[in-house]
Amino acid sequence: MIKKLAADISMRIAAGEVIERPSSLAKELIENSLDAGARSISIQTEQGGKNSFVIEDDGCGIAFEELPLALERYATSKISDIEDLERISTLGYRGEALASIAAVSRMEIRSRARGAESGGVIRCEAGEITLHSETPAKSGTRVQIDDLFFNLPARRKFLKTSSAELRRIVQIVNDYALIHPEVAFRLSEENRKILEYGNAESVDECLLRRWGRQTRIYRSQAQSGALSVRIWWNPAPDSRRIAVTLFVNGRRVQDAAVRAAIVSQDAASYGEWLVLIELPAQEVDVNIHPTKEEIRFRRSGDVFKTVYDCAKALFAQRLSINTGPAAA
Ligand code: ADP
Ligand code: MG
Repeated sequence: MIKKLAADISMRIAAGEVIERPSSLAKELIENSLDAGARSISIQTEQGGKNSFVIEDDGCGIAFEELPLALERYATSKISDIEDLERISTLGYRGEALASIAAVSRMEIRSRARGAESGGVIRCEAGEITLHSETPAKSGTRVQIDDLFFNLPARRKFLKTSSAELRRIVQIVNDYALIHPEVAFRLSEENRKILEYGNAESVDECLLRRWGRQTRIYRSQAQSGALSVRIWWNPAPDSRRIAVTLFVNGRRVQDAAVRAAIVSQDAASYGEWLVLIELPAQEVDVNIHPTKEEIRFRRSGDVFKTVYDCAKALFAQRLSINTGPAAA
């Protein structure tokens, strides 16, 4: 017999697609803070985010009356019609993150919208609003999530140790901090400072901070029409690993073709790579996966070739340096 699932059950199942683990909170909530124009983002976790995850920003805030709407599924301030999907300039647009998190945790949001006299607080437990009231609040937004997946025991059991979960959060904060020199990031776990990045001047400065001041960084850029590719490479001769961090229009994604363009270069493309691709929003479909971690390029051949050529230029630089000035 076919039965329709109760709304709270289907919501819990859907939520599990967007929120896989504590690092999904980091991704979704950092993206929300960036979309809100934050210049400072601070995260505190307990047990790698499993017990508690708190994020505070100084962004535009949420008006008191809009707090319940922010928690509602498919409610977003970022797009309003289907054409907008063709020109997305924000990281969010599906209006799913807060609703999903709310469905599988105990959540509290405190916020004060820029220019508003007072702020608001909303609390939600397993998708049910338990409190919504006006309250004095700092300008900006603070989101606290306790007991992630407390009502989804199978998912909760599948989480890794606190330190393994924390490592994934660190990776996400590190990556977003790389491409947002204008934003200060902080992360602490059980009051222990894990990361602290002040504002920087440029991506180069962020990379030196991440890879070490002594690192020799190779850098190249390429352009093909409206497609722009920038690549940074930190060759690690003693490593057999190729780590590619890719951002497309500010979105942290995985892409097999971009990776292939780098890996297929040379047997010695070991090391760490940062690839930043910018292209008009209508050239890329970000709407193919709930976590938006995969994308589709309309002209993937063009993207592959431009990344390939750009990476090739880095190898040429390296060769000319290795053979020394005399050979130049
Ligand atoms: P989306 O980001 O796809 O719009 P979310 O569920 O992540 O969906 O957020 C819903 C809405 O709540 C956003 O569209 C935005 O208006 C508001 N919001 C969420 N987080 C913040 C924040 N940190 N600062 C200001 N507004 C926020
Ligand atoms: Mg969002």
